Amino acid sequence: MLIDVHAHLDQYTENLDAVLGEIKQHQIITVSNSVDLDSYTRNCNIAGRSKLVIPVFGVHPINAPKVAGNLEQLDQALEASPFFGEVGLDFSLASDIVQQTDQKAVFEYLLESALTQDKYVIVHSKHTEVDVLNLIEKHGVQKVIMHWFTGSNEVFQKLVARGAFFSVGADIMNSAKSRQMAKEIPTDQLLTETDNPLVSLNLPDVLAMPCLLNDVVKELAQLRDTTEEDIVQTVERNFMAILQSTPSLAKFSKKIARDFKNRRGSRYR
Ligand SMILES: [Zn+2]
Repeated sequence: MLIDVHAHLDQYTENLDAVLGEIKQHQIITVSNSVDLDSYTRNCNIAGRSKLVIPVFGVHPINAPKVAGNLEQLDQALEASPFFGEVGLDFSLASDIVQQTDQKAVFEYLLESALTQDKYVIVHSKHTEVDVLNLIEKHGVQKVIMHWFTGSNEVFQKLVARGAFFSVGADIMNSAKSRQMAKEIPTDQLLTETDNPLVSLNLPDVLAMPCLLNDVVKELAQLRDTTEEDIVQTVERNFMAILQSTPSLAKFSKKIARDFKNRRGSRYR
């Protein structure tokens, strides 16, 4: 099965039926990340329509100022969510120092909640990789999935050494730097994503579809000099490890383990 650890299904509107159809047809387990509380509610509703969709709660850095004054309002969603995403920092989206401070306050609150609740965080770190790493280190958070990471090799190596996962997306079709990093991610720390609807890499009005993941897998196989099947199995195995260390998904992970096994006869405990 294919694994998309970072999509935003709530951002599709009229073509959501087609999106869910493709997810079903291609059997893509999709972690639908949220950018605020309303977005989480929409993702939870969408997950009610597909057993392959896992809705997760997070506050995108651009929305941090909206909630920074009352962080306790996030607690209920944090408690309910199996991972936290999308979380992180992005100072290109902060027009002043106050907004940067808000982003840090929200990110630290989410990191501390992740630590207390023993959950994975799915992290946005565009142009803020050093600050993000510093806060991850400060809070001693180990369960980290770096989404679309484009930082320096030094930060990359530090995150690798901390055992972080890296989810690779369509950027490997465009960026030499991302292609190089995609080759260097240790096999047991590799994940895949789309960041769908991925408006930024497309023409206006053209939203990427879940099948984009097939292109990512194909490109990864070429870059890492292996087969697509091997990439699919590697990512399945890694995602399974994440599910198995996420108690609230125990039921889901048992079912997924059976599905993986049925599809290829591989064994998971
Ligand atoms: Zn995203």
